[in-house]
Amino acid sequence: MSGAPGESDDPSGRLLVTEVFSAIQGEAALVGQRQVFLRLTGCNIRCAYCDQPEALERRPGPCRIEHTPGRRDWEHRQSPLPIDDVVEAVDRLWRALPHHSVSLTGGEPLMQSRGLAQLLPVLVARGHRIMAETNGMLTGGLARTLPWLTYVSMDIKLDSVDGEHVDLATHRRFLAAACDAGTTTWVKIVVGAAVDPGEFDAAISMVGDCSGHPEVFLQPVTPFAAVTEAPTPDQVLELQARALRRYPSVRVIPQTHKAIGQL
Ligand code: SF4
Repeated sequence: MSGAPGESDDPSGRLLVTEVFSAIQGEAALVGQRQVFLRLTGCNIRCAYCDQPEALERRPGPCRIEHTPGRRDWEHRQSPLPIDDVVEAVDRLWRALPHHSVSLTGGEPLMQSRGLAQLLPVLVARGHRIMAETNGMLTGGLARTLPWLTYVSMDIKLDSVDGEHVDLATHRRFLAAACDAGTTTWVKIVVGAAVDPGEFDAAISMVGDCSGHPEVFLQPVTPFAAVTEAPTPDQVLELQARALRRYPSVRVIPQTHKAIGQL
């Protein structure tokens, strides 16, 4: 069955998976927490700074599953994987080590929301809390998975940083849906050296209009692929100051997993 633009579920109920592993969350509100990462395959956009190029094309292929938390002792499989196999991969890591939560990441995990609507109730019934790391565009996919999400970590994409022309109205609809559901939600904005101040201000003001008062995390871009320049310290200070003049809850957190050499 075809879905809304940007959705790509496997009709057989399997999931396109790139990898399952245990690591320390390096971004935004849950930074430092130990999570099981379920990285799904496929993304509906192509950000200039994306550090997961192998997870972007929504097609079958090799995937890897870590057996022991943090050891990177990969079992290599072919994706898509049956839902039961994904449950077992997550459970095995969780049994070996208590984790804070499961991070659904990608790619864009909500592209496979119908498969997730089968997987997530099983994981939640086993006591796992679920966080979705999402580009904040696929509101239909969010609606399908929200009943099982404890946290939503939503990106706001700035065209002047990622070159993807994501409409702010799309992000506004997504953020309202997450906040209206009462799910703990925060916003992450990757900022680069060439960020457009007007575009940045509009994004912050949009968050300020949201009744849920989500916290905003500014994440200085980590140079990767086509992006070779990070914002200067002065730029980051100025961006946070601009944001704080419009909205009271704005923190700056760089990608800490990269600082400590993690996946
Ligand atoms: S939304 Fe995320 S996974 Fe998709 S291209 Fe952008 S950074 Fe990469």
